[in-house]
Formats: sequence, C-alpha cells, structure tokens
Amino acid sequence: MIIIGSGPAGYTAALYAARANLEPLVIEGFAWGGLLQETTDVENYPGFPEGIMGPEMMQQFRDQAARFGARLVTDDVTKVELTAGGGLHKVWVGDELYRGRAVVLAMGAQHRKLGVPGEEALAGRGVSYCATCDAAFFKGVPTIVVGGGDSAMEEAMFLSKFASTVSVVHRRDEFRASKIMLERARAVDNIEWVTPYVVEEFLPSQAGSLSHARLRDTTDGSERSLEIAGAFIAIGHEPQSQLIRGQVELDDAGYVMTHGRSTLTSMPGVFAAGDLVDHTYRQAVTAAGSGCQAALDAEWYLRDAGPLPEGELEEAVAARSGQAETLGA
Ligand code: NAP
Repeated sequence: MIIIGSGPAGYTAALYAARANLEPLVIEGFAWGGLLQETTDVENYPGFPEGIMGPEMMQQFRDQAARFGARLVTDDVTKVELTAGGGLHKVWVGDELYRGRAVVLAMGAQHRKLGVPGEEALAGRGVSYCATCDAAFFKGVPTIVVGGGDSAMEEAMFLSKFASTVSVVHRRDEFRASKIMLERARAVDNIEWVTPYVVEEFLPSQAGSLSHARLRDTTDGSERSLEIAGAFIAIGHEPQSQLIRGQVELDDAGYVMTHGRSTLTSMPGVFAAGDLVDHTYRQAVTAAGSGCQAALDAEWYLRDAGPLPEGELEEAVAARSGQAETLGA
C-alpha cells in the first residue's frame, strides 16, 4: 500500500494501515506535514484543550504512524500511473519506481493565487501566502491581507503583532469568516477594513520589493492605491490533483470524486482522502477521519482483491531484483 501525501489524512491512513500490518509506504513529500506546518495555534482539534502548534501536531502524527511501522519517503512523487485491471499501480519519485496494489491519494490542497500582475514576480519579495511563516519580516510596516474567510482573519491577527497596520482587503462588505474569528479580528486596534475592494495589481519599489497595491472598488469601479510592504493572500485553496488528472474522476474544481460516503475513487484500488476530496469542511479533524476511512477501504480492498493479474508479480519481483543487483554492483 502506497500513501501519497502527509497531512492529517496521509498520516492517519498510514497509522491505520501500519496497525493492520500493511507496512504502508508513505511518500510524504519533501515539505512533509501539509498546510498545518504553516499554522500556529490549532485550537479546534479535539483532545488538545490548551491547543497545539500546527508543526508540533504534524510531528506527532508522523511519529505515531512511524511507531507502528509506516515507512516514510521524504521526497516528492513525480509521476503516477494507475492500473485499471486490479493490478499494481506505479508511483515514481524521480527514477525510483514504487508499485502498490492499493494507493491512497492524500496530496491535500495549496494556497489559491489571485492571478493579478505582480503577484508572481513579487512572491517572496513582499507577497506571501503564510503569515505565520513570514510575518516577522514585516515589523513596523504597513501590510494587507486579502480575503474574507477564517484564514484571512487568522492571518490578519497574527500579522497585527508585527506590522504597523494590517488592512483586510475583501471583495464584499460581508465576510465569510465565522463570527468568533471576525469579532476577534475587529477587536484588534491596528487591523483596518478595506471593502468592497479587489487587488488589481502589485507594484514594486525601485529596489524590486513590494511597495504598492492598486485596488478597485467592486461597486463603482473606482481605484485607489495602498502603500504597503507586505501582502498576504488568504483566498482559499486549490486541490493538488495534477499528478492524477485524467486517471481518476475529478470534479470541475479539480477535487477527486469519491463514491458516496466512502473513499473509493473511479479507479479500483485507489482511494482518496483529506483536502484533496473535500471542499466543504477542510478541517484537520475531518481530514484525519477520512484518512482513517481510506486506510480501512484499502485494507478491505486488499483482503478481497485475489491474486494479481498474470505476470504482474513476476515483473515486479524481476524489477526489484534488477534494482537490487544494480545497487549491489
Ligand atoms: P474560504 O472560507 O473559502 O474563504 C476564502 C475567501 O477568499 C472568501 O472570503 C472569498 O470571498 C475570498 N476569495 C476567493 N477567491 C477570491 C479572489 N479570486 N479574489 C478575492 N477574494 C477571493 O477559505 P479559508 O478562509 O481559507 O477557509 C477554509 C476553511 O478553513 C473554512 O472552512 C474555515 O472555516 C476553515 N478555517 C478555520 C480556521 C479556524 O477556525 N481557526 C482558520 C482558518 C480556516 P467570498 O466570501 O466573496 O467568496
């Protein structure tokens, strides 16, 4: 069994599969741990009444999976070839080929981009997608956070401890954020509110770092310019489904489709969990829950799968011993 990805979904799938003696191989990515690595306090994961830091929580998820025999490969999957006939699926990490009869997809989601001029060129030079990673670089300078959800509130509150001002730029006057987060953010003195505006462009200083954002009022089209040193984009996420596009069924937004309440994808032996599947809940605890489901679905699949199609086992063994000879030589 191969698990691709290492957020709460991937590591929980690994924990359950390891405890089922499946010795799962977790290709956890070079930057393992998923988006929680970029979070500070996690206050809504049950069992931690005082809260826990995101990176510490992911370390614990990882340690727990490893303790029961999950094998971790700390590198990025470069290619996936799924097999329709119930045989071995192929997963590459560079030149290294891994084969698994069951594959759990748990690649999660990444930050959504605004797609405006200057955003890409100024990424790392003032434009960021993670206040908890980068806020300390913006001490005493004016900044903006773009977005109106809980992430935007969280980013704004964190950033307000460093920056001189944080203007929350949002395209509507109403906020999608939960009441409690909005109230907390509203109570912070140096958080200001710029609505209903969208960013049209980020502009650099002569030195090449971010100096201005050009904003447009979404009601009357008028424009204004804000002088800023930092811009944090918090407008949601994109599923990381590029590796398997065209091989399993995806919805219009690129999320992997699963059957009913299970984690079964359109490809036999391939299961999907976590943010890669879920555009509704997207919580650490729901991702962990679906990771558990994926491991159980995969375990049941393997139990009932019967022998491999003719020749597959021999081919895999030959390839393995070929590699062993090469390594030995
Ligand atoms: P979200 O709830 O989907 O909010 C995204 C925000 O970005 C929305 O306000 C949306 O505007 C705006 N937006 C999207 N595309 C845009 C674009 N192209 N240009 C300008 N604005 C754009 O995403 P999220 O805030 O990342 O939250 C995701 C989930 O995680 C939510 O369920 C949330 O509750 C949860 N979360 C919880 C916490 C916490 O409890 N501590 C912290 C972070 C996240 P519209 O509103 O106009 O669509």
